Amino acid sequence: MKQKKQSLTAEDKERFAPQLLLPGMNEARQLKLNNASAVIIGLTPPGLSCAINLAQAGIGKLILQDHASVQPADLSTHFLFSAADVGAKKTDALQNKLSQLHPSLEIEINSDQFNVHNAEKFLLTADIAVEALENWQDKLLASDSCMRLLKPLIHSGIIAYSFHVFSMIPRRSACLRCVFAKLGLEDFPPYGIQKGMLGAIASLVGSFQAAEAIKLITQIGTISGNHLLRFDVLRSEFDDMTELTSRSDCPDCGRLN
Ligand SMILES: [Zn+2]
Repeated sequence: MKQKKQSLTAEDKERFAPQLLLPGMNEARQLKLNNASAVIIGLTPPGLSCAINLAQAGIGKLILQDHASVQPADLSTHFLFSAADVGAKKTDALQNKLSQLHPSLEIEINSDQFNVHNAEKFLLTADIAVEALENWQDKLLASDSCMRLLKPLIHSGIIAYSFHVFSMIPRRSACLRCVFAKLGLEDFPPYGIQKGMLGAIASLVGSFQAAEAIKLITQIGTISGNHLLRFDVLRSEFDDMTELTSRSDCPDCGRLN
């Protein structure tokens, strides 16, 4: 990580003027963002949108984690990649785009598969984690690792036209294992692209995750830690699910209580 900035430059103030005008936002909070780092686990369409939004908002460092390459199907689910990127590692393709868009952003890439042996290595140096993984077991691994390291994790799940976002804050939130049980998702249904995906919804999910990450980093607004927001886009219905408390026998949550 580069040396932490002590104050915003004149160029920063000009660049971030629109968000500095927002109620509650100020130079100290923008500076927090400029000095913060986030790991994006899974460069699926929501992960790509989240990375772009965090870079645009001025986050200091992004750690990009994905082992996959860009496929032709990725061109219909996210605007970032073009035909020229097909076959390239997603991490490399995203790094190239972000470096052009935001030259001052520090980027670290990791193209190894996310697994039990390396999960904590990706998370250790980041202030916050965002997961946009496709596999429920990997999501649980991200949750277990973040609970152990006391890192906030912004989780999302997309099932066809519905999606949910949950900000897991260790010591304040239940872990994903407990939340999934409350939601009746113990059977781990097919998720993400395996269940079909509309690019417009995926972008919305990633933008939502970025907004949650910005709230946590700048300490603006409220994140209760036990709310899950669920949207059914087809029915235009919104649910705020509350009281997602831990199971009494959960090893992850029990260790912290
Ligand atoms: Zn738990």
